[in-house]
Amino acid sequence: MSDKVRKTIIAGNWKMNKLRKEASELASALVAGTKGKENLPEIVLCPPFTCLDVVVAAAKGSPVKVGAQNVDHRDSGAFTGEIAPPMLVDCGASYVIIGHSERRQFFGETNQTVPLRVKAALNHGLTPIVCVGELLDERENELTDPVVKRQVGAAVTGLTEEEILKLVFAYEPVWAIGTGKVCESKEAARVVALVRSTLKASFQNKETAEQVPVLYGGSMSAKNAEELLAQDEIDGGLIGGASLKADEFLEIINHACKRPRLSATKA
Ligand code: PEP
Repeated sequence: MSDKVRKTIIAGNWKMNKLRKEASELASALVAGTKGKENLPEIVLCPPFTCLDVVVAAAKGSPVKVGAQNVDHRDSGAFTGEIAPPMLVDCGASYVIIGHSERRQFFGETNQTVPLRVKAALNHGLTPIVCVGELLDERENELTDPVVKRQVGAAVTGLTEEEILKLVFAYEPVWAIGTGKVCESKEAARVVALVRSTLKASFQNKETAEQVPVLYGGSMSAKNAEELLAQDEIDGGLIGGASLKADEFLEIINHACKRPRLSATKA
């Protein structure tokens, strides 16, 4: 058994918001607001592609990391409108969100395209934040578990144990994203645990799956973050709307600072 400690991660998905000046100001306010804090989680800001460089500049010299919201699986070529992994690395990004429900819903992302992007991101040293989660209709038809298991299984297709250990997952029930309807914390923790137990199939030593960080996303806010982050299983948040205002995002980070660092063996 390993004593590896799972990271707490607070990631902000800015979606299609912020111009460069606004992005730079928000990132600078977050860097200033986290300075000197103890027990900080890993903080990841995921602005639109056009703001990556200004956010990287604002975060320079701080522990704040920068991520993109999508990535193509090819390195270059005639793929108009796409962004390749080396381009993200070139901009200073170290994370990338893959398989967000809005990409699945509006831009043709599927369980077939997700693993290609995951593998490409890993090949270039980017940390994928892989999003999984059920639609409202699927939840109402008691399909949450099979849907999530299928998405997790697909995402790790063809990956080695070593590669899977570099992933971060985010359980994001689609009905909770941007709706203000947060998943009840015990239920969120149950599905987060299901993500990890699904990963067991990929490891010879099943306990190793306990090392993979799994976040919760879906209307996480300054009001509900404390309760969600109090769940041992939940290793942090992927936050949309509430990551766009420095004060609210900093409040969520403050709640994360109070989390004890859990040993993967105890989680
Ligand atoms: C998201 O975009 O991943 C998300 C969870 O959004 P929100 O926090 O606004 O629900």
